[in-house]
Amino acid sequence: MSEDIEHVKCLIIGSGPAGYTAAIYAARADMQPVLYQGLQPGGQLTETTDVDNYPGYPEGINGPQMMIDFQKQAERFDTDVRSGWITEVDFTGPKHKVVIDDGQKTVTADSVIISTGASAKWLGLESEIRLRDMGGGVSACAVCDGFFYKGQEVAIVGGGDTACEEASYLGKLCKKVYMLVRRDEFRASAAMQKRVEEMENIEIMYHHEALEVLGENAVEGVRVINNKTKEERTLNVTGFFVAIGHKPNTDPFKKWLKTDNQGYIIKKPDSAKTDIEGVFVSGDAADKVYRQAVTAAGTGCMAALDAERYLAEKGLH
Ligand SMILES: Cc1cc2nc3c(=O)[nH]c(=O)nc-3n(C[C@H](O)[C@H](O)[C@H](O)COP(=O)(O)OP(=O)(O)OC[C@H]3O[C@@H](n4cnc5c(N)ncnc54)[C@H](O)[C@@H]3O)c2cc1C
Repeated sequence: MSEDIEHVKCLIIGSGPAGYTAAIYAARADMQPVLYQGLQPGGQLTETTDVDNYPGYPEGINGPQMMIDFQKQAERFDTDVRSGWITEVDFTGPKHKVVIDDGQKTVTADSVIISTGASAKWLGLESEIRLRDMGGGVSACAVCDGFFYKGQEVAIVGGGDTACEEASYLGKLCKKVYMLVRRDEFRASAAMQKRVEEMENIEIMYHHEALEVLGENAVEGVRVINNKTKEERTLNVTGFFVAIGHKPNTDPFKKWLKTDNQGYIIKKPDSAKTDIEGVFVSGDAADKVYRQAVTAAGTGCMAALDAERYLAEKGLH
């Protein structure tokens, strides 16, 4: 390995709640963390307007502003926050090699914290993306945004376990939930399916797909089609939820770390440790269950504490 490669004690990949929280803890433990932000500085919360469920903000907070606050707090303790996308890693160790921007730069690190999150999948309709981007009532997270539609009528797309879980969450809050299932059956487990079938205010619409989300600045309805009969109709809803899955941003690490069949990194129980010494994971990159800012931040803290103990054990800190 050439001598001009920069070496750091703690490298954090990702700038969502997990990455910045790991940075705050690592910096305060004098691990001099270097954090690469990736293509989405601030992570998924920069895609949303109101965050009402993160403790400490009694009036709620705008997502992008919250992530600026996270960054400022990490920088207050001298985290070195940088632009850059990790394209390749070599975890042969003990110094882990991380390649940034296709070889523009290479860094080695005694410890690496992966906080690369996950990305929600969208249908790709122009109207869906436009209203999503303006915070106009299109969401991929019922737990995050369902509350805003209390007592209203909403539609949700998807037929898997997550869609069923999100639909039943919405069913408890909303007056009516239209569930659009593309096929004539669910992909979900029988138990999850039963849960939605038993809720009287959920109307399951098999063979239905969304064609367009209606509304200029906010959702006013959804135009749907029965893909069997080709019959179209408009659902008068004020919220449109998409629950067709997430993709964890773990591609550069898959060669080295164990992942599940969806690509989520598998960590050791009760820790942020992966199978490779000195490599830790936090946030949505390893969490397909909770996927919340507060849980991501919590595991970011765990990753930094585990990394600190690892460095101390190895006499590197
Ligand atoms: C529209 C929307 C609204 C939401 N609302 C809420 C809410 O109200 N409350 C709530 O608790 N949760 C909400 N969530 C969920 C919450 O945003 C996530 O659970 C949380 O952001 C996960 O944090 P994370 O740090 O694991 O990853 P992310 O926030 O996904 O951040 C991942 C980071 O990794 C970086 N990255 C990825 N790959 C690489 C790479 N190869 N190299 C370098 N960097 C990389 C990205 O640039 C990004 O900075 C919402 C999500 C969405 C999409």
